[in-house]
Amino acid sequence: MDAKKFFYSDSSDTGNTGIFDSFLNQIGRIIYPNCCHNCHKDTTQEDKGLCQECRYKIRLIENPCKICGEELKDICSKPSVCGKCQTNIRYFDSVFAPFCYSDPIDKLIQDMKFSKNISNCNLLAELLYEQIVLQGIKLPECLIPTPINPKQYMNRGFNQSLEIANRLGKLLSIPVKSDVIIKTCNTERQSKLSFTQRQNNLKGSFAQNKPIEYQHIAIIDDVVTTAATANEIAKVAKCNGVNKVQVWACSRSIKL
Ligand SMILES: [Zn+2]
Ligand SMILES: [Zn+2]
Repeated sequence: MDAKKFFYSDSSDTGNTGIFDSFLNQIGRIIYPNCCHNCHKDTTQEDKGLCQECRYKIRLIENPCKICGEELKDICSKPSVCGKCQTNIRYFDSVFAPFCYSDPIDKLIQDMKFSKNISNCNLLAELLYEQIVLQGIKLPECLIPTPINPKQYMNRGFNQSLEIANRLGKLLSIPVKSDVIIKTCNTERQSKLSFTQRQNNLKGSFAQNKPIEYQHIAIIDDVVTTAATANEIAKVAKCNGVNKVQVWACSRSIKL
């Protein structure tokens, strides 16, 4: 095994624990600072952690639903709002999730979550930041990372949404408020559930912890699938006086 592979193999390859792999990943980042986070080939400092080849593979969502950000298949559909947004209550005003959940974004997110590769949080935040600036997205007054429950936190060692929000907050000079809305109960993992089950699973699982002193907020997440989680958080925010809720996520996953 070559030296670089040793640092970037994940637990499924090595049989190591996630925490040990996370430690190796972080050592690898110090020894090989200019290494692509996705394919681990050498990069230049200007590439900021993703080589040109991997950058080129990123696919942007085309023709997103104006509310939930899902890619609309029919380019001519008017109004540009998907069927689910026409028939379901959306407490958030809009979702900005510019990248498709496909190679290399999906791998960067999976490495971040399941191999506990915390350095990918900064990279994903920087990619999202570039699109916020490029697309002229209106900036909120504060960022609220999607809360995770203590069990998830103990298992992963960090909240990826908080890490992404912290980096974005620095880049955009916007405060990050991670304790105003909290997750109040452990819920079943959303990935196993259908659209309706996801909505029911999350009902009442978030609550306001402190007053939200802003009128316009953005909820931060790594990936949006049905937007059920963001909708529950937005509901808490709107019921507590927030006027406008955007959702910012790196990626929008495939249609369920
Ligand atoms: Zn690469
Ligand atoms: Zn929609």
